Amino acid sequence: MWTAPLWLLACASNPSPLPTPAEPPAKDVVLIVIDTLRADALGPAHTPTLDALAARGQAATLAWSGGTWTVPSVISLFTGAPVRQHGWDGPTGQQGRYPKLPTLPTLAETFRAAGFTTIGLYANGYLAEELGFDRGFDVWRRVPDAAMPKALAETLAALPPDPDRRHLLYLHLLGPHSTLRPSEEAAARHGVTEAVTAAGKQGLDIGAVARARRDPAVAETYRRAYHAVVEDTDARLAALLEAMGPMAEEAAIVVTSDHGELIGERGLAGHGAQLFAPLTQVPYLAVNVAPLPSAVSTVSTAARLSEAAGLEVRWPVVPELPLVAQREGALTLTLDGEAQAIWREGEAAAVYSVGAIEAAPSADDGRFEQARAAWEAAVPEGVRPGEAEALRPGTEEALRGLGYLD
Ligand SMILES: [Zn+2]
Repeated sequence: MWTAPLWLLACASNPSPLPTPAEPPAKDVVLIVIDTLRADALGPAHTPTLDALAARGQAATLAWSGGTWTVPSVISLFTGAPVRQHGWDGPTGQQGRYPKLPTLPTLAETFRAAGFTTIGLYANGYLAEELGFDRGFDVWRRVPDAAMPKALAETLAALPPDPDRRHLLYLHLLGPHSTLRPSEEAAARHGVTEAVTAAGKQGLDIGAVARARRDPAVAETYRRAYHAVVEDTDARLAALLEAMGPMAEEAAIVVTSDHGELIGERGLAGHGAQLFAPLTQVPYLAVNVAPLPSAVSTVSTAARLSEAAGLEVRWPVVPELPLVAQREGALTLTLDGEAQAIWREGEAAAVYSVGAIEAAPSADDGRFEQARAAWEAAVPEGVRPGEAEALRPGTEEALRGLGYLD
């Protein structure tokens, strides 16, 4: 059942009213998630659309996702709560049975309650209605990346004319999630035409990098194809912005990812059960929102977008630092983006250099333990989610196509 958000009511007796925002609130709000997008992909890949958004607005120098796979990360985006607080910390591949979303208020529920029309288009089958991701959305539809611009244009065109209507759009592209099928043009630009042709319709699977263990050639080919797909996704993003029409110019927009990808680092590949920085660090671009802090957690997105829209909502309060990500009981944090501590269950912290992730870890000098204790004191532990829900056959099939549920 939906719990109504706690509105902060400004009234005459309030001794310290909230300051009036300097900018008029954005009429519309757009959150775009490009699945599996590493922060360092935006250099090697040519991404004019993302670059133009960054030039219009801001690009965070350091941003972390709160989780390292789709479901817990997107729940953090939707509820504004870290994994520790929303409590959904399960693994992938549970034979198609997953707990439903926790009963915290969601972004879409909050915006709909404030009069917004809420539209969500998603390409990742995990965001299925049966898990409750549709809560608060007027439209919640699974659409593959290639069809998303057209689906968005049609969805907006089907709404009755109303110049005063405000929109919340949530667009979740699969982007460079395995399996990779770059366009011929992008593959040629990155010198992987042969590999892509050899892979044929099956595409390039991240499993090949895992099986090749530490063969750098296999990882390098995958990395190039990954950058090629990022370019194709950038072009798709341009088409999505075009489908929005004038809304794209005035809306508050955030573009980010739910996690990165390991492409051979430490002999690992994919985004299963790990917390290394190539998974936690993601791009974060924001247009028409308040200035970003020096370190951004994707968990703060709901609060940022609500503020940009002029909605006063009491989202969970999350400290700006450290940046924290959690995965299946393990936890990692960074204070500066240079070093990260990882606590695996029942073990002491291992400290890794983000710039030299292959090097052996060192022990914590107490700095990280202290930061973790302070963070956990500020972030209440959530209730474990309830009964698992079976995925529908169609959803299961879609996940098998993504390489899950092996
Ligand atoms: Zn994902």
